[in-house]
Amino acid sequence: MSLARRIALVLLAVLLPAGSALSARPAASRASAVDPSTRPVEPIAAVAVDRDHDTVPDRKGEPAKVRATVVVGTGVLRDRGFQVFVQDASGGFNLFNARSSDLTLEPGDVIEAWGEISQYKGAVQLQNAEVRRIGRAAVPPPTPVTTAQVDGWAHVGHRVRVEGIAGAVMLDKWAMLRITGDDGMPLQIYVPAPVVAGFDWKRWPPGTRVAATGVMSIFKPTWPFDGGFQLVVTDPADLAVLEPPPPEWHRWIGWAIAAALGVLALGTLVLYLMQRRQRARQRELSTLSALSAALADTGIGEEQIARNACEILTAYDIVDGVAVHLHDDGQRLQRVAASIADARMRSAVEAASPEGDADVAALSQRLRDGGLRVIGLHRLAGADATLGVLAAFSLRARRPSQMQERTLLAAAKLLAMALQNHRIRERARQEAQALQKLVITDELTRLYNRRFLDEYLRVQLPLAERRGGGLAFVALDIDHFKRINDTYGHEAGDRVLAGIAGQLREASRSCDLPVRLGGEEFLVVIAEHEVDGAMTFAERLREAIAALAFDDVVPDRGLRVTVSIGVALFGVHGTDAVTLMRASDEAMYASKRSGRDRVTLSTTLPALSA
Ligand code: GH3
Ligand code: MG
Ligand code: MG
Repeated sequence: MSLARRIALVLLAVLLPAGSALSARPAASRASAVDPSTRPVEPIAAVAVDRDHDTVPDRKGEPAKVRATVVVGTGVLRDRGFQVFVQDASGGFNLFNARSSDLTLEPGDVIEAWGEISQYKGAVQLQNAEVRRIGRAAVPPPTPVTTAQVDGWAHVGHRVRVEGIAGAVMLDKWAMLRITGDDGMPLQIYVPAPVVAGFDWKRWPPGTRVAATGVMSIFKPTWPFDGGFQLVVTDPADLAVLEPPPPEWHRWIGWAIAAALGVLALGTLVLYLMQRRQRARQRELSTLSALSAALADTGIGEEQIARNACEILTAYDIVDGVAVHLHDDGQRLQRVAASIADARMRSAVEAASPEGDADVAALSQRLRDGGLRVIGLHRLAGADATLGVLAAFSLRARRPSQMQERTLLAAAKLLAMALQNHRIRERARQEAQALQKLVITDELTRLYNRRFLDEYLRVQLPLAERRGGGLAFVALDIDHFKRINDTYGHEAGDRVLAGIAGQLREASRSCDLPVRLGGEEFLVVIAEHEVDGAMTFAERLREAIAALAFDDVVPDRGLRVTVSIGVALFGVHGTDAVTLMRASDEAMYASKRSGRDRVTLSTTLPALSA
């Protein structure tokens, strides 16, 4: 109550007649027309009756006087007067905009009030009432009701007790709380500002079963409805927790599902990583197996071996590019093979200096200078020296993965082994070739020897047989060779042998075979069908030998050497090696007998076949 109003009340109290303690009323009050002493006290039910339940009190606008007990005190004071809830044996309601000289009403105060019957948002009230306290009484015990029973304004002003399940709390300077009764009906609990702080709202999670004791009132025109009923609770002790909310199984189930999903996701991830690892391992093994298969064939050239290794390493996606550099005879590293899909990377690798790189460091530097990401430089270790380097490149990565490192290392070992094997094999082949040559050639003259002649005839005679001829035997023996030895020495004799061998080689075509049979005796097996052809060949040979100067043997002495020649033709003088040899030999001796330095055709007649 404002100070000005208090002063006005005091002045009025002084001016009005004594004995009328509550006659001090504001001049503006419409209730001032009602004389409290002349009105009988009425039960609240008579005042607040609404027979039609149309929420409009039947006696709206009429004056009334009630005697009742305050159930909610001045805790709900309003601007223009105070509002208290009162209750008598017949019912309850609120005194709205009530006035009094100097009253602070507490629950349990028994008052008399007279004012005008009015309505506020469907609730009946006594408006602009004058109030005076006439004594004290016990606050009426709360009436237990269900939320469904709180209908209309029947309980307005009554202390009631309701049980229900708490919903969300809306906290402001006051608190709003909804509870839902067992019947499913919601009810709003209103806790006014002055007492809000006394509640421990943490104990009120939604779902808590609570009991609320308060006075039924009308809604404030605020959240969430406009008008209606609510329970005004003014004592923290009047909001009791009956049962904590039931365990939130759904939350636990939610957590369990989330955890299971998490485990599943983690498992899937682990599985994926394991599979990826497995696949990488598989790729590594496939690559190495393909490499060993490809490198097993060392019969191919070194470049092809290196190219195979490069192509397998890129085909199996181990690296983006790879090149093999081998030491040349000058010990410089030369690129011999590469496999690179990316055009820019390829041109960078190919941009090598023609003279090669001095060593691995120089090669590495040059590749890096060319903008290449070198992720591996593996030496190709041979049996006693480094054969070269296997260089691997990446388009993106700066360093190799473990798998790449392992695979490249193994690939370099396999490649080095293959190259080493190839070299050993090549050397062996050359040695065998040399040995072979040694076995089938005559050391002094470099002509084929008797051993090879036998081999040759074993193939050529059946061929001649099938073709119907085409072989002639031309046997030569140096005339008076002994004399040359005796006159000029054995070494000079050797040089004469070599000179004549050279002449035989010169006269022979690729299809002919000049042979040193032994000593100073030779045989040329020529591809010839006709006697005339063979005789011409032999004659030309004789002449050429006779014309030889042998200046290297005895300079300026004009040494002349002649040969005696005998000719036998396949199919004419024989068809087997022994016969033909003998025939040509006999013809040669015939040349000796008839004066040497001449050619004689065999006179042997072939044995008549049976
Ligand atoms: P002709 O054949 O004209 O009847 O007389 P000839 O002197 O050539 O007779 P003969 O066949 O008896 O002599 C062959 C000689 O060739 C005997 C041997 O000392 C010599 N001789 C054999 N092999 C070699 C050799 O490899 N080097 C040298 N310098 N002499 C050899
Ligand atoms: Mg002889
Ligand atoms: Mg001789």
